[in-house]
Amino acid sequence: MTTDPHALDQPAGHDWDTAGFSTRAIHAGQDPDAATGAVVPPIYQVSTYKQDGVGGLRGGYEYSRSANPTRAALEEALRAAEGGGAGFAFASGLAAEDTLLRAVLRPGDHVVVPDDAYGGTYRLIARVFGPWGVDHTPVDLADPRAVLDAIQPGRTKLVWVETPTNPLLGIADIAALAAHARSAGALLVVDNTFATPYLQQPLALGADVVVHSTTKYIGGHSDVVGGALVTADGAQLPVGLTGPTGTTALVDAIGFHQNSSGAVAGPFDSWLTLRGLKTLAVRMDRHVANATAVAGYLEAHPRVTQVIYPGLASHPGHEVAARQMSGFGGMVSFRTGSLESALAVCAKTRVFTLAESLGGVESLIEHPGKMTHGSVAGTALEVPEDLVRLSVGIEDLADLLADLEQGLA
Ligand SMILES: *Cc1c(COP(=O)(O)O)cnc(C)c1O
Repeated sequence: MTTDPHALDQPAGHDWDTAGFSTRAIHAGQDPDAATGAVVPPIYQVSTYKQDGVGGLRGGYEYSRSANPTRAALEEALRAAEGGGAGFAFASGLAAEDTLLRAVLRPGDHVVVPDDAYGGTYRLIARVFGPWGVDHTPVDLADPRAVLDAIQPGRTKLVWVETPTNPLLGIADIAALAAHARSAGALLVVDNTFATPYLQQPLALGADVVVHSTTKYIGGHSDVVGGALVTADGAQLPVGLTGPTGTTALVDAIGFHQNSSGAVAGPFDSWLTLRGLKTLAVRMDRHVANATAVAGYLEAHPRVTQVIYPGLASHPGHEVAARQMSGFGGMVSFRTGSLESALAVCAKTRVFTLAESLGGVESLIEHPGKMTHGSVAGTALEVPEDLVRLSVGIEDLADLLADLEQGLA
């Protein structure tokens, strides 16, 4: 019996951790297949593994909920991409979040959440964990003082950070919030979905664990749903908590819960996600270039009342973003002055497809108030009704600008 599914015999190879980002994304965990020399990890579409005598596991593989070679390759690549201690791949971003929350929280605990958190994250914390006795406080994370005030020493076990946030693209100072969380014995988790590990490395800024919806930029092609957790090297559970395996290591608790609850990424989904990860850097360069140009275009447009993009000097979080990100991302939000005009733009664009989600190669447009954030109307997370959100893709910029021009006409 393997008790730690991550204690696998990794094929001998380079120490990719000292390599650059793209080299890590392309090679970490992905040495050519030992049996055949296959250059990319095969899709091990298999549930169980022959044992050489009872307990004689080959490479640590026993049953694919506990560990699967294709998933292990993805987990190692994600770990290396974030510069962490261990990676875990899940069936969705919310499955990853659910596993983290179970591993870290107990009834009576308290969580600080962003006041414009991803709607599904807020729903999970408020409406799934709430009835199990977990309390939460929504806070504007752009204000570290407000976060400090919301922390209840001894009760707060997690400070949940998104930066940039969705859809208002608020910026939180990761290093400042990590220090606040640590002084209260709580963990700092950063949902790095919008920024991606290419543009932002939260673990290096003091976060304990990073969460991803790999459905978005890491997958990058709108063809797979997945999630991930990457823990900081040596990360511990909140002060005072011992995990189910008898240790205080965060990696042990998450590994136990991943295997016990079983919301793992399947082999094919893992393979698609790995395929996306390899080109993350080149895609992000184009996303950032296009988004920067789109934000500048919209800022000069008479029918647009406000443009929200962390790369603009007018953004209140611009300086913090410039310090902790190597690029400002591919998401741009803007306001049109009325619900009617916002809905009209969403109805008219052609290159920007009207759809939820984000982070794929194709440009998307959506109305958060009626679409992704419809479920938070009337709560602290409600968004303005004239807000439009763009996921700027990697098409030709001239076509994107022409499409917005006719959409706003
Ligand atoms: C999409 C998303 C999630 C949830 O991920 P799923 O893969 O849809 O379960 C969490 N956080 C952010 C920021 C997201 O955009």
